[in-house]
Amino acid sequence: MKKAIFLDRDGVINKDVGLLYKKKDVKILPNVIKALKKLKEKDYLIVVITNQPVIARGLITEKRLIELNNFLNSLIENLIDEFYFCPHHPNANLEIYRRICECRKPAPGLILRAAKDLDIDLTKSWMIGDMPSDIVSGKSAGLKTILIESEKNKKVIETGKKWDIEESDYKSKNLLDALKYIK
Ligand SMILES: [Zn+2]
Repeated sequence: MKKAIFLDRDGVINKDVGLLYKKKDVKILPNVIKALKKLKEKDYLIVVITNQPVIARGLITEKRLIELNNFLNSLIENLIDEFYFCPHHPNANLEIYRRICECRKPAPGLILRAAKDLDIDLTKSWMIGDMPSDIVSGKSAGLKTILIESEKNKKVIETGKKWDIEESDYKSKNLLDALKYIK
């Protein structure tokens, strides 16, 4: 079995610009390539786990989202092994995506699906994200977790109304900084 680092996308790999559906809005954060290379050297698979309500809103199709993810990956030397995304939303504009699913974070569905597909040992794997929903989904799947703290997520975390917040195992400033916790 393999070990993996599960990563949230926006706010961890690229700048969180809100609703991202255009290539020109993909801005890679500093030191991401360096961090991903270090994780590869430690034999971790890199798997992105991301909610994509932009699909449920009808701003982008699944096909285009896959193209956008591939574009993002090309900017970071294709260091990401797989992307898993949830296209659903309880209040989706598009009816086919309107439901309460098992894969939208904070649910752990995407992580569990990836673990099955890719033969990942969850007990040796980590979730790194910048939102409480990342931490909750990681913990629910049995992962060790690291919360990346930023100005953007500060409010969500402090008010804590939206999620039933569980504490992450560790906290860091960015992806490269998070590596100090990972053997
Ligand atoms: Zn879903």
